[in-house]
Amino acid sequence: MDDLIETTQQRSDAQLIAAVRAGDTAAYGLLFQRHAAAATRLSRQLLSTGEADDLVSEAFLKVLSLLQDGKGPDEAFRAYLLTAVRRLHVDRIRATTRTRPTDDEHVLDRGVPFDDAVSAAFENDAAARAFASLPERWQLVLWHLEVEGQKPAAVAPLLGMSPNSVSALAYRAREGLRAAYLESHAAATTDEACRAVTPLLGGFVRQTLSARDTAKVDRHLDGCRRCTGVHLELVEVNQNLRGLLAPALLGPAAAGYLGATGTAAAALGAGGIAAGGAWAT
Ligand SMILES: [Zn+2]
Repeated sequence: MDDLIETTQQRSDAQLIAAVRAGDTAAYGLLFQRHAAAATRLSRQLLSTGEADDLVSEAFLKVLSLLQDGKGPDEAFRAYLLTAVRRLHVDRIRATTRTRPTDDEHVLDRGVPFDDAVSAAFENDAAARAFASLPERWQLVLWHLEVEGQKPAAVAPLLGMSPNSVSALAYRAREGLRAAYLESHAAATTDEACRAVTPLLGGFVRQTLSARDTAKVDRHLDGCRRCTGVHLELVEVNQNLRGLLAPALLGPAAAGYLGATGTAAAALGAGGIAAGGAWAT
């Protein structure tokens, strides 16, 4: 019952986004309050404090104008905002070094992780692609729980759900991510033996296969370097989603972003809200 009262009082990110699209700019103030600390945390990995706060304001304005144009995220606000911070930062650097590309906004709107030298070297972008193919609701829950390490109770208001429902959603989202990941690999091979084994790898990693299927996968992995690679990456998807996704979306600042403590984040958040209070009015 408490859950019900709480969820009816607090609008989810998806509801706030819909309200902004319908012309309710004050709803954007609530999104700002929820996510400014995170944007500031990332931005301060990239720039000095004053410049970082400017970048955060610019990113919020950018996403606001995209939402008002009917573009941008429907639910997964946090990951989209952080991608915007990173892209705007990269755009600033580019603007000072050479002619600005014309299709930046297009790329930003598709939410494509920016492709710079560092992320090109990042070898696990298959996981990032699989993540991007998921429904936004699943992206949201995985981002906040797995990457940012938040508790279901902290994520519940963003989704307008009870903490138990968040946990159940996260379970389905993890299953969905594994399936999307394996699907992309299965589609990429024409080898019959590999195609037969790839769908079993998810169960193999979770040790839920029958003894016979386990032996079948074991035999295949002994002789197939490709599937061994897929298997190892899937173990990463299972155990270290944050290590795979954070660098793909946040770039070189990922480690610093994730390393900032909760206390530091709260302190940054207070400053960020004060600096950008324009949306709260
Ligand atoms: Zn194989």
